[in-house]
Amino acid sequence: MSEYDYDLFVIGAGSGGVRAARTAAATGARVAVAEDRYLGGTCVNVGCVPKKLYSYAAHFHEAFEDAGGFGWQLSGAPAFDWPTLRDNKIGEIKRLNGIYGRLLDNAGVRLINGRATVLDPHHVAVAGETISAEKILVAVGGWPWVPDFPGSELTVNSNQVFDLDSFPERFLVLGGGYIAVEFASIFNGLGSESHLVYRGELFLRGFDREVREYTRDEMAKKGVNLHFEVNIEAIEKVAGGLKVSLTNGETLEVDAVLAATGRRPHLEGLGLDSFDLATHPDGSLRVNERFETSVPSILALGDVIGGPELTPVALAEAMQLVEHHYGETTPAPLDYARIATAVFCHPNIGTVGLSEEEAREQCGEIRVYTADFRPMKHTLSGSSERCLMKLIVDDHSDVVVGAHMVGEEAGEVIQGIAIAVRAGLTKAQFDQTVGIHPTGAEEFVTMRSPSRR
Ligand SMILES: Cc1cc2nc3c(=O)[nH]c(=O)nc-3n(C[C@H](O)[C@H](O)[C@H](O)COP(=O)(O)OP(=O)(O)OC[C@H]3O[C@@H](n4cnc5c(N)ncnc54)[C@H](O)[C@@H]3O)c2cc1C
Repeated sequence: MSEYDYDLFVIGAGSGGVRAARTAAATGARVAVAEDRYLGGTCVNVGCVPKKLYSYAAHFHEAFEDAGGFGWQLSGAPAFDWPTLRDNKIGEIKRLNGIYGRLLDNAGVRLINGRATVLDPHHVAVAGETISAEKILVAVGGWPWVPDFPGSELTVNSNQVFDLDSFPERFLVLGGGYIAVEFASIFNGLGSESHLVYRGELFLRGFDREVREYTRDEMAKKGVNLHFEVNIEAIEKVAGGLKVSLTNGETLEVDAVLAATGRRPHLEGLGLDSFDLATHPDGSLRVNERFETSVPSILALGDVIGGPELTPVALAEAMQLVEHHYGETTPAPLDYARIATAVFCHPNIGTVGLSEEEAREQCGEIRVYTADFRPMKHTLSGSSERCLMKLIVDDHSDVVVGAHMVGEEAGEVIQGIAIAVRAGLTKAQFDQTVGIHPTGAEEFVTMRSPSRR
């Protein structure tokens, strides 16, 4: 009999914590998990899921406009009702919270509602109990971070934006990361006058340059007001809204400001300070390939260890962690370099592998294939939306090292292409693949002449 109450105590029932808890329990480990806010964590409650639901809602705007060219006549202008969307979203998330609770229950994992603190490498305190565990898994995720400036308390963060009491007819988002870009598109699509303010010269740093520029142009065409190389100096409450003063002297009056200015590891008050755990410069926890921190009985995964902050990454890390600690084999390390991702701005971005800039640096000689076209749907819809597809090929090996798309359902398309890129297929193998006609995605197997080298 073990000297500990549990083999594994998980702090945080988010994407990574729930997956690790269930999978470890399935191997026979005795597992408990503490959660102080909501089952399912960021993704289910204030991240991927509500964001995608709102993105669907926002796309209807264009769908109504596009329908006319196909013969549909809508009687009267369609009207959007924010409380219906918000409250239906709340209902769906409650349903998902219930599913997560049942998943843990069915796996035999004990769920404790409360904020856990780590007392020592084998003890945690939660909900008035002190619990011992052979291993403690820190799966606490991240938390929105907002810079301090006059009036910053008048902003909302990404946790709060989903549940605004009233619909912001005029909406401003501060930031240049994917969350900022997505919310600017979402509120624009829902009918707000939408502004994005970013101090850098162009949003989505780290993505392929051409993709960023193309997205900028497409979003601007759809009516998002983009303000680059400028910051917010101050926000004041005025009659009927918020007055936002920008560093270039301009002022904007809006109803809500979303500060999408980054996320930090959610370590405050967790009790880890006394252990002096090794961290990265951004404060995220350093772990080895077994997901052990510098105190080996304290494990960590997901957003709190940095890396690509994505739900599928937290899930994959959880599976790896369990295999290392409770499985019979040593799993191959995760391939972080070729993780596909999507940005649900309008139009969507889908991307996997290297950007053109990274490929030039890492591969030397490359070939770049691009297709920039008006999708067939828009020949009748009248929309001016265009689509970009791009393949980056290592000239020496002919391997496709990057694939990028800006266009409708780019995430769905790139998910398939990601398998080929992950498998290291060559451009010749892409070319041998007979396309599906008529689709936009067939361009990925029909681009024959490089646009540049
Ligand atoms: C607006 C937004 C949109 C996103 N969209 C996407 C997307 O489209 N696709 C994608 O892949 N990813 C997306 N993400 C990222 C994704 O949500 C995260 O990468 C993922 O949730 C990380 O999982 P995790 O297990 O590390 O942490 P989380 O899911 O954040 O879970 C951590 C949990 O720990 C709990 N907790 C924290 N401290 C304690 C404590 N001391 N005691 C008890 N419980 C505690 C928290 O309440 C939380 O439930 C989005 C994130 C945001 C903010």
